[in-house]
Parts: sequence; C-alpha cells; structure tokens
Amino acid sequence: MNNEKRILLIRFHDNICEQCLKKFKDKDLQIHKLNPDLGYSNHRNLKVVCSACHDMYSAADRKARGIQ
Ligand SMILES: [Zn+2]
Repeated sequence: MNNEKRILLIRFHDNICEQCLKKFKDKDLQIHKLNPDLGYSNHRNLKVVCSACHDMYSAADRKARGIQ
C-alpha cells in the first residue's frame, strides 16, 4: 500500500485508532491486515490502528499462526 492510500484510509477514520479509539497523528497510525493472505485490496480486511495496538495485533497473529 502506498503512502497516499494509507493517509486516505487514516483520514477516513478521522485519525482514530480502531482498537483503542484514541486520536493519533498520521505517522503514528498503521494499517493492519486482519487476514494477511488477503492483502490490501479488500478494505474490510484493513484496520487502522496505532503503533501500540499494531504491535499487539502482530504478536497475536504470530501466536495464532504458531510462529512466535
Ligand atoms: Zn490503538
């Protein structure tokens, strides 16, 4: 996903993390893929989250996939 699309999606969510519902700056928000296999094309697969929540999601993902 290019930066322009990332910013659009973040703005669409009013710069609010979908997980902790706090407001962040563009650079502090990330796009998380709910299902990594689906990629960025399906918007329902995407979640706008802050860095802290993204770390939590990534750790949970790794655990669920038995990688950790
Ligand atoms: Zn958050």
